Amino acid sequence: MQRGFRLRVAPGAGLLAGHSDARYREAGAEIAADNQAALQAEIVLSVEPPSLDEARTLSEGATLISFIWPARNPELIAALATRKVTVLAMDRVPRTTIAQKCDALSSMGALAGQRAVLEAASVLQRPLGAVFSAAGKLAPAKVLIIGAGVAGLAAIGTAKALGAQVRAFDTRLAAKDDVKSLGAEFLELDFKESGEGQGGYAKPMSDAFITAEKALFAQQATEVDVVITTALVPGNKAPILWTADHVGAMRPGTVVVDLAAAQGGNCELTKADEVIAHPNANGTVTLLGPTDLASRMAQTASELFAKNVLNLLAELAPKSAAGTPPGTIDVRNDHEIGGPMIVLLRGEAPPPKVAAPPTPAPAPSPRQSEPEPPRVAHPSVGADAAPSKPKTQYVPAHPALGKLSHPRPKRLRTLIFASLGLVLVLAWLYLRYATGGTTPMRLEVERFVDQLAVFVLACFVGWQIIWNVTPALHTPLMSVTNAISGIILVGGLLEGGHAGSLDTRSILGILAVLLATINIAGGFWVTHRMLRMFRKQG
Ligand code: NAD
Repeated sequence: MQRGFRLRVAPGAGLLAGHSDARYREAGAEIAADNQAALQAEIVLSVEPPSLDEARTLSEGATLISFIWPARNPELIAALATRKVTVLAMDRVPRTTIAQKCDALSSMGALAGQRAVLEAASVLQRPLGAVFSAAGKLAPAKVLIIGAGVAGLAAIGTAKALGAQVRAFDTRLAAKDDVKSLGAEFLELDFKESGEGQGGYAKPMSDAFITAEKALFAQQATEVDVVITTALVPGNKAPILWTADHVGAMRPGTVVVDLAAAQGGNCELTKADEVIAHPNANGTVTLLGPTDLASRMAQTASELFAKNVLNLLAELAPKSAAGTPPGTIDVRNDHEIGGPMIVLLRGEAPPPKVAAPPTPAPAPSPRQSEPEPPRVAHPSVGADAAPSKPKTQYVPAHPALGKLSHPRPKRLRTLIFASLGLVLVLAWLYLRYATGGTTPMRLEVERFVDQLAVFVLACFVGWQIIWNVTPALHTPLMSVTNAISGIILVGGLLEGGHAGSLDTRSILGILAVLLATINIAGGFWVTHRMLRMFRKQG
């Protein structure tokens, strides 16, 4: 409301999360007469996608922000399109640093990971931590986490905190450091295939890799007390990694929690939203396939989701105060966070993005190649998770560095510098030894060539330094370049203002002042943007 929005809450909307209507009223919101009235708002915020009937009652031209899963809900998208609704999917928030504050998938993943450990602990026939008693000593329970993304890492942290001995596996080697930093063991597979897909996500692995992975888990199955699976590949069905054979080899009283159950499951025997007591040769193994773990902590889930949405609204609210009414949002295709979230813009699918040529994917496993259910074709209906990740990570732009982040072939660069250097050396040799006389003009040209040599050398060294630094470190590098720019500024002022006339020296001085000023101002601008990303919303 501080941002100028008027709030209307559907009656009873917060009851299951522990928030009564009276509390919303106290906070200044109006409680709508019924759901129908709430859906008439200009901006509709919701956790779950609306039903088909609800979609048809939305005001024409309204904006809907919620989890949408467009690939799973083509009919809903078609219905929303007929109402000319603008739809922003919370499941498509780009997974970039700048969008982190709006990333509801991560907020919910972290909650689900923690809760999965607690659910396992509640049915496990033993405590997670070690037990020291008069009757004897019991070693900590062994917990295996498959998939060390957001949910997997949260599960590792919770299991470790409860005293378990934790091991984890992920196809992305980048996850190894994360796992180790939480004090867990990272299981390694002697198989040369990278699991890194675009932008840090996993890619589908070859059948041979999955077979080797299953073999690795076969030994784990006889050892571990709890298995928590979280393995997902955006846009694909969850890979089957914990087979009936693995379940068959588990000890009595052990537990499997399949967090991928909503996407088909990582365990061959789990069923979404079911608790199965599965008998094997050793006893009974409990299989859990929960799809609502975040909702089981509704109060926190609701608060985190609300914060994510509030941050999004703040990002979408027009920045310029003049002329724009408060309490409005501006949804544009080119918005860094809002753009990739658009499923419909005033009922129309956004124009397709120019994508890089696809890298050939390895042959899908039999389960991944299961036919997709028939869908109502709508241009905005794509794979659910894949589009949320842009091809590149966010790298702050800087006027002086912008061009350098698109490397040209190394050989061409070397050739350009080598030719420049050669021309310079030849010019210098010619002026020194081939021409005679000591006219003031010649001395002046000689001095100019000397200075040009220093300038080109400085460019070459600077270029090499920046080129060899990874883009993620360009920001700290900028503070160094800003300091250098400061020195150049002083030098430029001295040179530019030394004489009353406009000779080569003063022109170069003025040029140096201009370029250094652009660099310094650009540095401040980028720093301001970086600070804005981490500023508390309030
Ligand atoms: P996810 O839910 O799509 O997948 C979960 C995990 O399963 C991933 O770590 C994946 O590598 C793993 N996996 C896939 N196939 C597997 C297999 N066959 N065996 C074992 N593991 C398998 O992923 P997520 O948790 O949403 O996040 C994925 C990545 O995105 C992580 O690197 C995370 O750090 C990153 N991320 C970045 C941001 C950000 O920059 N703002 C936000 C969220 C996540």
